Amino acid sequence: MKCPNCRSKDVGKIGVNQYYCWNCFIEMSLSEGIINTHQVEEDGSLSSLDDLFEENDRRFSM
Ligand SMILES: [Zn+2]
Repeated sequence: MKCPNCRSKDVGKIGVNQYYCWNCFIEMSLSEGIINTHQVEEDGSLSSLDDLFEENDRRFSM
């Protein structure tokens, strides 16, 4: 799995259908073949980054 943001393969699994990019520090979750991306804010909340990506980029491919 590659990070849709930075294209790094340095992506670790942190939970069921949840991944974390160690390169650009975003969290990803997988649902129905689409990657949803989130950024962890300083206060610990999550903000969605999905607007930044085309649906093509978010489609999960092995
Ligand atoms: Zn990344």
